[in-house]
Order: sequence, then C-alpha cells, then structure tokens
Amino acid sequence: MSILVVGSVALDSVETPFGKADDALGGSATFFSASASYFSPINVVGVVGSDFPHNELEFLKTRNVSLDGIKTEEGKTFRWGGKYHVDMNQRDTLFTALNVFEHFKPVIPGQYKNSEYVFLGNIAPTLQLDVLAQIDNPKLVALDTMNFWISGMKESLVEVIKKVDIILINDQEAKELTDKTNLVQAANAIFELGPQVVVIKKGEHGALLFTKQGIFSAPALPMETVCDPTGAGDSFAGGFIGYLAHNDVLKNGVLDESVLRKAMIYGSVMASFSIEDFSLEKLKDLSSEEISNRYIQFVELASF
Ligand code: AMP
Repeated sequence: MSILVVGSVALDSVETPFGKADDALGGSATFFSASASYFSPINVVGVVGSDFPHNELEFLKTRNVSLDGIKTEEGKTFRWGGKYHVDMNQRDTLFTALNVFEHFKPVIPGQYKNSEYVFLGNIAPTLQLDVLAQIDNPKLVALDTMNFWISGMKESLVEVIKKVDIILINDQEAKELTDKTNLVQAANAIFELGPQVVVIKKGEHGALLFTKQGIFSAPALPMETVCDPTGAGDSFAGGFIGYLAHNDVLKNGVLDESVLRKAMIYGSVMASFSIEDFSLEKLKDLSSEEISNRYIQFVELASF
C-alpha cells in the first residue's frame, strides 16, 4: 500500500567528531522516503528552491518514490545546520532557515488524494494540517515533529496531533510537549489528545511503543561506528510506517499489535543503517538480504 508523505526536503550542513558535510541532501521527507521505499511505494509532497540539485533525488525514482508532489519555487531551499558533541546523543542546532517552506501552500496532486497511509513528517504543523485537510479519507495517519515546532507553534501542533492515529517523537520532545518529566506520563498525556499509538524514540537507547495494550521496548543496535546520526529519527519512521503499510496493520478497524512490534524493529533496522554514513548515502542502495540480516541481529540481540 502506498504512503503519502509531507515533510522537509533540505540541504543540511552537519559537523560530527568524524567529519563534516556541507549542503548535503537531507530533510525529514527525504530520509523517510528513502527508508520507507524498501517496504512500500511512496508519494512525496514538499518544496525546494531554485538552487536545489534535483539530480541528487534521482535515486529515489528508481526506488518507487514518486516526486511529482515536490514543487520548485523561486528562492532558496530549506537549510538546517547541526553540530554533534563527542557524545553523539547530544547535538546543537546551529541554524534553521525555512526559506521556500515559509510561504509554501501544499497542493496535493489529484492522484494522491485518496492515499490510505499518510505520514506527516517533521515540518510546520500548519503545513501538516493543510495536507491532511486535502486527503479524502485516510485509513491511518502518523505524525513526527521536533522541538523547533513544539516551542514555536505548539497550538497548531496540538491541533494536528488530535487528528492523527500515531505519533513518533523523541524522549526530550515528548517531555517538552506534555510538561512531564516521566516518559510513561508523557505518553499518557499524548493519548489524552487522541492518538492510539505513541512511539518515543530514545536515540542510542532504542525506542518505546505505547499502545492501549501496553509497552514494548525495541533496542537500538549497539554500533561500533556511528558516522552521522542526522535523519535517524526519520529513517526509523520510514522503516516503521513502511512496514505497517506493507502489512496493512489496520485489520477490521483494529491495529495489529504484533505488526506494530515488528515495525518497531524494522524502524530500528533502518535507523541503524542511516547513521553509518553522512546524509542519505547508506540508504541509497541496500539489498533485501542486508535488511533481513540486520533484522536477525536485532532478534538475537533481544532474545533470552
Ligand atoms: P532527525 O535527525 O531525525 O531529527 O532529522 C534531521 C533532519 O530533519 C535533517 O535532515 C533536517 O534537514 C530536518 N530538520 C531539522 N529541523 C527541521 C525543522 N524545524 N523542520 C523540518 N525539518 C527539519
């Protein structure tokens, strides 16, 4: 089943203890699409500026990703800069330049309007609302966000959270959004807003799945080399939602818990690939064998 995604398509400038990348391909929609495309066809909605190197997205077309919903506007592409500490769980945002995203009005192409699976990737909540309003009758809607929007546009963010089935958020952001200092309390506060599923990402400490049935903990793979954690969260979301769509997790109106749990592991698998290199390099050309071998590593890591 195909997935409609809206999010940032960006040029990232990233510095880690292992090196630097300037104006490298990034963005929430880009990482998500590259990752999810290993499981389901993807339709992307977003905007880039007239300075965007379109050839860098070509590889996505060969991976069953439709880019027809990406508009090119006069102006500069969205740019983000980040610097990682020696402890790569810590990063500072150096700048966020919305550029063409500032005045972007998404128009969903007719052929995408009846999308059943929708992923509202990290971008202004007002844009996420705009996109959702144009989809006829989605079966499952998931959302990701980050601190920039929690502190800058909380009201609109809460409005869109009320309309989604699944939220993916990292631990610090879940606490900031809910004013709680405890993750279980934070998940419960998010349930009260409406979502049925809350996924809290904890970087190198894995991710927690909260559903009405309980809590599931997915580990992150302990890696010897972490080159660049940028996009790990979006790559996780891609593996997670991609697997849910591929297996059509909603059966007779009920979310299948065992599919949700396996999806958490596929999310972790895709995040583990993403951090092995800068930008999207590692996500460009994975084989199904590499993905299933890494899945087995996760099974072995957590079985006792
Ligand atoms: P992650 O490391 O999963 O948090 O994702 C980082 C990606 O999100 C980078 O490629 C950035 O271009 C993009 N990004 C950073 N800040 C924002 C923002 N405020 N809105 C949308 N995308 C962003």
